[in-house]
Amino acid sequence: MRFYSTNNPDVTVSAEEALFHSMPADNGLYMPAVVPYRNASFVDHIAEGSLADIAFEISRLYFGDTVPDHALADLVQQAFPFDTPVYELEKARKYVLELFHGPSLAFKDVGARYMAAFMSYFSQKTDKEINILVATSGDTGGAVAMGFHNVEGVRVSILYPKNRVSDLQEKQLTTLGGNIQAFEVDGSFDDCQAIVKTAFLDEELNKVLSLSSANSINIFRLIPQSFYYFRAYGQLKQVGTPIVFSTPSGNFGNLSAGVLAQRMGLPIRKFVAATNLNNVVPNFLVSGLYEPKESVSTISNAMDVGNPSNFVRLCHLYGNDLDTIKQNIDGYFYTDDETKMAMQQIYQQYSYMACPHTAVGIKGLEHYLENDGQACGVALATAHPSKFKPLVESVLGRPVDVPERLARLAERTKQAVAIPANFFAFKESLLQTVA
Ligand SMILES: *Cc1c(COP(=O)(O)O)cnc(C)c1O
Repeated sequence: MRFYSTNNPDVTVSAEEALFHSMPADNGLYMPAVVPYRNASFVDHIAEGSLADIAFEISRLYFGDTVPDHALADLVQQAFPFDTPVYELEKARKYVLELFHGPSLAFKDVGARYMAAFMSYFSQKTDKEINILVATSGDTGGAVAMGFHNVEGVRVSILYPKNRVSDLQEKQLTTLGGNIQAFEVDGSFDDCQAIVKTAFLDEELNKVLSLSSANSINIFRLIPQSFYYFRAYGQLKQVGTPIVFSTPSGNFGNLSAGVLAQRMGLPIRKFVAATNLNNVVPNFLVSGLYEPKESVSTISNAMDVGNPSNFVRLCHLYGNDLDTIKQNIDGYFYTDDETKMAMQQIYQQYSYMACPHTAVGIKGLEHYLENDGQACGVALATAHPSKFKPLVESVLGRPVDVPERLARLAERTKQAVAIPANFFAFKESLLQTVA
């Protein structure tokens, strides 16, 4: 499979190039040259399998010409030793798709681990050290840090906004050591993202270092996120009613992956784009105008994005046609107070503890279902509630159990390089730490 840039569809690159270069020089985003469409019997058949089985079948459609089957089979086993189960809130009507059973307890494990597996596969062919730069609003960093920790030939630099990630998120970024280095940026997530984007375009830096990204802009993060939509369908198709997915969204990688699954033939009636007050996309779905804003801080901090980097992809997947986009996606957004009330209501009604992001997704789903009596609704549970323990405990007034693997991190010491929100400060500091 070849990949084109959203800024210049005429030029295409190989999978390996899209993986390592992440972003085309023209500042666009890579997209598959052809979205492989498959018929209902193929879809029904592959959806029967485990997450790793589904990953294998779909990966073949994209990378079968690049990576032989036996290697692909290994890579998907390596990436996905866990499942993405659905949890029933209301029979045949309301479910959550739990995406937090990986090592960092958030859905970003899926993309990060898949990418790490492919990068180590391809980098074995060269002896060049790869430097991965990644900006995180909270959960990407942990997933990438854990996915790449001790992967040979790869160094990872993680930029995160100071005081805007939870304590446990910060521990995941800053305590592993070895090939993982954290930068604590005195600014917002958008500042972190802007620094990373500038780094990729900086000639001098690119001369000295072989730079790669692990942000959701990398197409190798996006493709694997489509797998769990198939997995959800496999678990729910016996319900027999059309499926609607509600995706709590920030950079819109997760929702774009759902649209990719739909374009591959997965029958999805509708998507709900659920956000916090960073509501650029819900506003766009009403007005048709895309107006990026400064991000605002909320309790669902992994969705505090004012200019979602995957918005362009979402549009491309629907042929840049506003009517098609509106037909397929409904948008809802919620304040922090509404999110807290939703967390309480979900707990009272279903004894289910939702992290604030997941609560936004469930709330959006409930909103949608009020006007659709037929659908089987699935909200994506993007993180485990214990990742936001103090908040969830104060909102629900009860203790939250922390899984052992996360609890162990709390005792470790943070190590991060503090920098201002400025590209040159980062560049200097990066060259020092890597040299
Ligand atoms: C990253 C993240 C999101 C937002 O996902 P996008 O793909 O950026 O839209 C939502 N919830 C949690 C817990 C996250 O970590």
